[in-house]
Amino acid sequence: MAMKEKAYPILLSLGLALFAVACGGSSASRSADHGTLSNLSSGTSAYLCEHDVPGDVCTRCNPELEADFRAVNDWCGPHGIPESQCHRCHPNLTFEPMPELEAEADWQDVSHEDALRGLDAVIVEGRVTVVEFAAAWCVACRNLELRLREHVNSDPTLAVRRIAVEHWNGEIVDTYLSQATALPVVFVYDADGRRVGDADSATWQDLQRLIERAGDSR
Ligand SMILES: [Zn+2]
Ligand SMILES: [Zn+2]
Repeated sequence: MAMKEKAYPILLSLGLALFAVACGGSSASRSADHGTLSNLSSGTSAYLCEHDVPGDVCTRCNPELEADFRAVNDWCGPHGIPESQCHRCHPNLTFEPMPELEAEADWQDVSHEDALRGLDAVIVEGRVTVVEFAAAWCVACRNLELRLREHVNSDPTLAVRRIAVEHWNGEIVDTYLSQATALPVVFVYDADGRRVGDADSATWQDLQRLIERAGDSR
């Protein structure tokens, strides 16, 4: 009797352990059905098709493109479309056209070579500088940039320096993003070149707070 009483909790915990393994296994295989977002959906056409995707890269409108997306693992198995076009898996996905930058907007893309020489040289004295690390496939980056572009167009006290991070490895990540967990990452400097703060997985609200703080620190 005593043994049976003891055996029960052991079996129960063994059962729970097996259940946990089974769940872990199923979520692992579920994630294998999903791919990774690539740049292939960035597209060049300004018009969005009936699927809310740039018309020239939509695989439902252009089935012949499917192989290209599958080749780079940009494929959502459950929904049968590219991961980078799946609004159901990525509810924040938007292909809203980026606002054009005005001629006077101070926005520059910084090469990796220049960035690795140190950020001091890219910071603009006399302006609040936002250094943004972002990728074209990153949904959150795109959403941040939509607002940031509008803002830099109307704010002559602001400068943006964008550094492209297309892979989560390499020298840029090792040098600047070893503490960060997700893109976009922003570093914000005041007009005297002092870093006032940074944020990862940055939203427009996060960045606005940092820009305000940089403005106040004069
Ligand atoms: Zn379409
Ligand atoms: Zn999906």
